This record gives sequence, structure tokens and C-alpha cells, in this order.
Amino acid sequence: MKLNSRLNELARDDIFLKVTNKVAEYKKNNPDKKVISLGIGDVSKPIIQPVISAMHRAVDDLSDMKTFKGYGSYYGYDFLKDAILKNDYKGFSFSKDEIYISNGTKTDTTSILELFDIDSKICLTDPMYPIYKDGATCLNRRIVEIKLKEENDFVPEIPKEKYDIVYMCSPSNPIGIAYNRLELQKWIDYALANEAIILFDNVYSSFIQSSDVPTSIYELPNAKKVAIEFRSFSKNASFTGVRCSYYIIPNEISKNINRIWKERTINRFNGADYIAQRGAEAVYLPESQKLIQTNIEDYLDNASFLRRELLNLGFKVWGGIDSPFMWVKTTENMDSWNFFNLMLNDLNIVVIPGCIFEGNNSKYFRVSALGFRKDIEECVERLKAYYEKK
Ligand SMILES: *Cc1c(COP(=O)(O)O)cnc(C)c1O
Repeated sequence: MKLNSRLNELARDDIFLKVTNKVAEYKKNNPDKKVISLGIGDVSKPIIQPVISAMHRAVDDLSDMKTFKGYGSYYGYDFLKDAILKNDYKGFSFSKDEIYISNGTKTDTTSILELFDIDSKICLTDPMYPIYKDGATCLNRRIVEIKLKEENDFVPEIPKEKYDIVYMCSPSNPIGIAYNRLELQKWIDYALANEAIILFDNVYSSFIQSSDVPTSIYELPNAKKVAIEFRSFSKNASFTGVRCSYYIIPNEISKNINRIWKERTINRFNGADYIAQRGAEAVYLPESQKLIQTNIEDYLDNASFLRRELLNLGFKVWGGIDSPFMWVKTTENMDSWNFFNLMLNDLNIVVIPGCIFEGNNSKYFRVSALGFRKDIEECVERLKAYYEKK
């Protein structure tokens, strides 16, 4: 017996674990200190009431054989597909055949590789959300990373080489920036010219504020020929624990694409949770949309507050406008671990060292505005006290 040796290459787990362990150790040795995390990648708002009620009703459906739901919804229930197409893809004329309901973009963005030839050359950026790379690594795929440069504000240059698959995350985690129409169109044109597919992770679409940033890649000409878009209820509707996501595979990519993907999916997936899908359907109720909008505005208020204060303190900051995340340069050319240690030990603030998203000598860190306002304010006070004294 031989194990999948590629699994040994997944170093990221160690780094996250190292962050968690260091924080736990600090707390154990300093029980009187209040440690606050600016690194939170999870949400801090509970699920809104109309969605909770819908899920309660869905639980009751399961208690009666007349309304019980078992196997069979491999690609999602029509009620949710209709709600998504009517709301998120209004005017795009996608059919239910082109949409798939699933249980998380984290798995979807990796599983989709099963659609493509094993020798496909995959283009990633460095830094990037590490899941794509790790997923592709486990599946033994060919990866090339484009280094993002500070002088280009972390916007990747269009490659000269040919790739078959391009991962894009916009609004991005960890940088927190989003592609505008002009930049995105260049990638679509690249994909057309190179017969490449863009895997477009758009889980933060609800956070988009800038008028030149499209909320869907399909707003752009020819995108339906080259792009698969992924979205999730995790970040806008606090489904990080409930699990429900969806993605679009346009028929325009190729004649057979949805037929073969359905063959694959019927064999590899038994469908998303009925209760979660009923909850997701309720996200589109007018009363839900209002509540969700308020939640997002709160997160974005936090982001703009944190961004402004970090800039005032002299930090170099990217993102935080169309996204809850910001990518920040460490001070005094410190590497990201040293900066992490300084923040933890001297200020009792947790930030995410950039080396989780790029190589070991990262000089950046990620902060998030997904936490509580009062915690973020307290972090800002600590940072001010520390840096204004210096
Ligand atoms: C949080 C996050 C996801 C995870 O989505 P799930 O639907 O909860 O699996 C995917 N992509 C990015 C970039 C994320 O930050």
C-alpha cells in the first residue's frame, strides 16, 4: 500500500496550527491579558430570523412521508435554482441546467478540476486563497504560480504563457481587492485566445461597493464562453456552519459540458442538505435581503474604519473596500512571523501572517473586519497607543 504522497506537501495546515498554538500558549502563560483577533475568517453575525424559520419548517417537512425528502437532488432543488436565477442572475438567461447547488465553495473550487483533463496547466497567483493550490496538489495537477507585486498593487499581469485553467478570486481573500471591468475583460480575452477556463470564486460578491467592479463575471462580454462562477451563502448569510453554495457552468463553454458534469456529479455527490437549501431559498425573501444588507453594511463599516485608522498610522493597506479583508505591509521590513509575534506579545492582537498565503518570507499580514466592532475599536486603540508613542 502506498499513500498519496502529495498530501505531505500541504504545509498550510502547519502554519494555521502554529498560529493557533502560539495564541493558545500565550493565553495560557498570560491569563490576565485580553487577546483580540483581527484575523477572523468566520462571520460574527447569527443567521437572520426568516432563514431560521424556513429551516424549522424544512425540518418539519422531513417528519411526514408526504413532504419527506430523500436522495435525488444531486444538482439542487428547483425551488432554490429558480430563486438564485431570478435574483442573482436576473437578465442573464441561464437555464436550471447550468446551475449546481452544493455544500461549499471550498470543496467546489477544487472538485471542479475533475471536469478537466489531468494534464491541464493551472495558473494561480502568489499570494492566493491557499485552498485552490492545496486541492490541485492533492489531485496531482500541474500548477504554476504568478507572483503578485506590490508595485502593481497585487493585480496580476496577463501571462504570456498558455494556461488551461486560471483561478481567480474577486473580491479576493487575502488581499481584499476586486477586479474592475477593464482588468477582468483582459482575462476573459486571454481565456478566449488561449482556450482557457476561468474558475471565478465570487463568494464575496455581496460586499462589492465600487461601481466599476461587476458583481458577476457574466456581466462582461464573452464571459459565458470561458468562466465558471462560484458563490456561497457562507459569508453573506452566515452559512459557514450550515453549508450551501452554488456555481454556474454555462452551456456556451461547450456542447457537452453539462451532460458530462452531471454524469460525474451523480457518481460523486448526493446533493446538498434539504434544510440548508430551504434556508438558502429564504435568503432571497425581501425581508431577508434587508437584514442581510444591514449585516454587510456593518462589516463594511468596520472595514472602512479599520482601513482608515491603519492608513493614519502609516501602514500600507490594500483592500477593505469591496471586501472584509485587508492586506497590510508589516513595519520596519519585518517578516510576517516576527510581526505576528510582536502583535501578539506586545499588543495582544492576533493577525494572520502573510506566509499562510504566500512564501515563507512574506512581509505582509491579513486583517479582517468580520469581527465585532468593539473589538476592532479596541485593537485600533492599542495600535495607536503603541505607534504614537514610538
Ligand atoms: C470563505 C471562503 C470560501 C469558503 O466558502 P464555503 O462556501 O464556506 O466553503 C471560499 N472561497 C473564499 C475565497 C473564501 O474566503
